[in-house]
Amino acid sequence: MLIPKNLVDIFLPIDDDGYEGEIICKCGCKSFGIRYFGDFFDKNQLTIGEYEELSAQAVKAICRDCQKEYLLYDFATNGYDGLICEEGITVPNEKLTEFTTETDNSFYIKMFIEYDDEEQFSEEILGDEELQSKFHFTLDDRASIWTWVTIELRGVQSGTVYEDFVNEELS
Ligand SMILES: [Zn+2]
Repeated sequence: MLIPKNLVDIFLPIDDDGYEGEIICKCGCKSFGIRYFGDFFDKNQLTIGEYEELSAQAVKAICRDCQKEYLLYDFATNGYDGLICEEGITVPNEKLTEFTTETDNSFYIKMFIEYDDEEQFSEEILGDEELQSKFHFTLDDRASIWTWVTIELRGVQSGTVYEDFVNEELS
């Protein structure tokens, strides 16, 4: 089972294919603060924003116990269009905002990701000389370049589920 590179220490798969997982800090804690970049198109539903005339969306999680910070998702590095089609830009850390609701500032996190199957990735990405001269991908990168991502949060304080905090088609 492939785990995306940026989630390798913290993604615990909860389905057989490894597309859906819970986020758990290396210290064992499941409660996180959330920092994000993007626009809200609806209450507590984040969509892609703009930074320096490019598309930007990112979510980081900060462990409530040990304070370690993890990048869960960056449109510019995990998004198929963001990376391969160069539509995305990584925003500086100080541009991220803490996510809080009326009731919660700490969250349990679930993620669901989709990416190319092996054959598709081999043909379209590894087989593309121009792309490869730039990115030098291997088959292991397959799980790190996503065609879809969802991030679901559940408030530690209230138990409220923020179902589609992120729900973004990326290709
Ligand atoms: Zn921790």
